[in-house]
Amino acid sequence: MIACADPSAQFQSYQAEIEAAALKVMRSNHYVLGLEVEALEQEFANYIGVSSAVGVANGTDAIELALRSLDIGWGDEVITVSHTAVATIAAIEATGAKAVIVDVEPKYFTLQPSQLTNALTSDTKAIIAVHIYGQSVDLKSISAFCKNNKIFLIEDVSQAHGAKYEGKRLGSIGDIGCFSCYPTKNLGAIGDAGLITTNSKKLSKKVRMLREYGWDKRISQYPGRNSRLDELQAAILRVKLRHLDSDNSKRNKLANHYITELVDSSIVLPQTRSESTHVYHLFVVQVSNRNELMDHLKSNNILAGIHYPIPTHLQPAYLNRLITSTDMKVTETLADRILSLPIYPELGIENVQKVVTAVKCFNNS
Ligand SMILES: *Cc1c(COP(=O)(O)O)cnc(C)c1O
Repeated sequence: MIACADPSAQFQSYQAEIEAAALKVMRSNHYVLGLEVEALEQEFANYIGVSSAVGVANGTDAIELALRSLDIGWGDEVITVSHTAVATIAAIEATGAKAVIVDVEPKYFTLQPSQLTNALTSDTKAIIAVHIYGQSVDLKSISAFCKNNKIFLIEDVSQAHGAKYEGKRLGSIGDIGCFSCYPTKNLGAIGDAGLITTNSKKLSKKVRMLREYGWDKRISQYPGRNSRLDELQAAILRVKLRHLDSDNSKRNKLANHYITELVDSSIVLPQTRSESTHVYHLFVVQVSNRNELMDHLKSNNILAGIHYPIPTHLQPAYLNRLITSTDMKVTETLADRILSLPIYPELGIENVQKVVTAVKCFNNS
């Protein structure tokens, strides 16, 4: 069976290092927010190219706390896309703010900048730019829009750890960057984890307080909650961070193999923006008879995925709830056409070739 993603394969790659790191924590008698978290924060900040990083419990919390650190909440609006993990929108709503959604660019699946003017109101406080599938949004246009309208830019980098835009790592360009380290992500823990990056001392200090009851020296300065990061996950992430660039280049090799082999087929291949690098969190193709191709692959023991089968604004919890200022034509069309072919660093060219062969066989049938 070829899975769409396989975090246990990554554990096996780095098993000795991960087990040593985990054992050290277990024997340390300090399990939450300690030296491993501090070291991870320093190393991740250096890697992304920002002055500070803050570890939190998961990616959804990273976004919620980022918004709270910018004083965004009740009565405010935050613009983002519907073509994303539900988490992006859940995090906005967790602050009390309203989510305003816009459509995406058909070529890159990312926020369509031309729709921002329609979505802007006097209550708009921020845009959450989701770097979907492994590459950047049109950051130049979106940053310019944020500057001109004096609103904040939050990057949701949960699918693009390590990718660059005009030479800079994603998560270092907006006011604040939010990362999920869920096990299947490019930088994945063995459990839940999240990270926030920023160049603002003020914001990093506030996020640090917000993740633990709003405390400053054990006195709550803000209404608090708990979004602490475990030492065990931090220690594991430190091991994985050392291998992130090499893992991303493995993903690129596999993606290039797919592209070379499938360039003449009828499926639409993913495209990379010239200003961005791609870290292929997912390898998403478009095909008109998607469900048939998915079934065909399954009968060949290949599990493809769909990210995402129903746009957030059409899922039961969010139906008629999110603010839409434009139509969602591209988002809604994509939902029936997209298919995520297996990709993860340990997959190997031989297995990619098996998927290619199965896709070609389907195309010719
Ligand atoms: C995974 C993901 C999140 C949420 O992260 P969790 O760690 O599951 O809370 C947010 N945004 C995007 C784009 C994601 O892919």
